[in-house]
Amino acid sequence: MKIIKKSKKLCLCCMEEHEVKTVIVKEHTLFKDQEVEYEAMYEYCEYADEFITAEDMIRENDIAMKDAYRRRMGLLTSEEIIAIRKKYGVSQVDLARFLGWGEKTITRYEGHQVQDFAHDSILRKLDSDPQWYLDMVRANRKETSLTIYKKYYELIVDLVEKQADNYLKQAITAKYVKLSGNEELCGNATLNLEKVVAVVNYYASSKNVTSLFKVKLMKLLWYADALFYKRFGHAMTGLVYQALPMGAVPVAHESLIQLSGICYEEIEFEEGTGYKFIENTEWTDEILTREEKAVLDTVISVCGKDSKAQIVNRMHMERAYTETKRGEMIGFSHAKALSIS
Ligand SMILES: [Zn+2]
Repeated sequence: MKIIKKSKKLCLCCMEEHEVKTVIVKEHTLFKDQEVEYEAMYEYCEYADEFITAEDMIRENDIAMKDAYRRRMGLLTSEEIIAIRKKYGVSQVDLARFLGWGEKTITRYEGHQVQDFAHDSILRKLDSDPQWYLDMVRANRKETSLTIYKKYYELIVDLVEKQADNYLKQAITAKYVKLSGNEELCGNATLNLEKVVAVVNYYASSKNVTSLFKVKLMKLLWYADALFYKRFGHAMTGLVYQALPMGAVPVAHESLIQLSGICYEEIEFEEGTGYKFIENTEWTDEILTREEKAVLDTVISVCGKDSKAQIVNRMHMERAYTETKRGEMIGFSHAKALSIS
């Protein structure tokens, strides 16, 4: 018996006013042929040595027992069901309607009624697959008012995007797994994609960086890592760069620019589409340290206004580039000879 509260009040057991303890007791019971153990809450009268179940405890104890059963059977608990629903900001009734269930179904599952396995797997699907849920909500949009539908819709889209970004990050990380043990290529740094997004935004929001297209951005990323390595003995982002005809390009560059938080405009040229990186107005630079910003500022002061041809030329003269065969990865030990300091 664990005492969690004491208060002086009318004891419902002996009908006298005295200090009544609220206690937690381990209970065993049989539910649907399963023996379950759970923590029940009671009031305790010392004088009568008896437990009393106050009105509000009846429901709570019942849910605690059902949750113990759910855990035993590998089903979602009531709290987990509530958390899934709240993630989508949807009411109990609306969620039940979107799933094509009876109006009270979700309300019951969040309480005393144990869901069956079929409904449990639908709730798990709901948790893991916002795109699937988005399709359900779209198909059943008439189940709620337009205003509420729009509110739900925005939240789901947000979750779909976050999930896509997580998949993208996993895909990029997978490409770096083989390289991650190689200190020379990683510049003694671990891949940090948040830092990559931060560096891109630092450049994109600087007035002293002109026409930030992809080729230039890739070089500016390399200069940031190389200069940071030169100053502090390790790179900033953990990106690994390949020596391509136009200079350094990070591994998985196509995916990197799709990371959430990086903004660009697509501009049509005769030779194809160009990606011009622009400021993300919701971004803050708090993830960057003072030393990192100082390095970025130096890079900007030297090559922020370079044209594409100028920065490609600049890169072509770096020892890191001339000493690396085309197509091979660039080692960070060359950063000692970097033209910028
Ligand atoms: Zn009493």
